[in-house]
Amino acid sequence: MKNETGKSKYKLNFELVPDGCWGSNLRNVLRPAAWNAVRKAVLARAGGKCEICGAGGRLEAHERWEYDEARGIQKLVGIEALCRKCHETKHIGLAQLRGRGEAAEDWFMKVNGCSYAEMRSALGEANEEQRRRNTVPQWTLDIGYLKEFFQK
Ligand SMILES: [Zn+2]
Repeated sequence: MKNETGKSKYKLNFELVPDGCWGSNLRNVLRPAAWNAVRKAVLARAGGKCEICGAGGRLEAHERWEYDEARGIQKLVGIEALCRKCHETKHIGLAQLRGRGEAAEDWFMKVNGCSYAEMRSALGEANEEQRRRNTVPQWTLDIGYLKEFFQK
């Protein structure tokens, strides 16, 4: 079933990054000190809890992007503090390469309270979206979102 609004009904989503998006890891875009400042601010905001599932423990900063396919713009829209499992699940392509694909699928179903069929459908949509975005010849990076971290 397609969700026509484009917004997912799940709190934990698969986020596949198009192949040509070199900037989709901020560590490649920011100097280490700047990235550390952003990371620290995000982790402090989360107060030690994963911003998706609420789990404690070690948290990782995850960059959320939106893609304007018509204009070829990859825009940073948020940075979230996530537990390792939620982070791994979002990057399911990478999880699969590491032999962790099933673990990521299980976590998706657990956090979202959905069935295997629903999970597979969400994964199919994410794959389809990525295939479509891979046809965009070039992406331009918009990281204006980061301004809020450097205004003080
Ligand atoms: Zn989590």
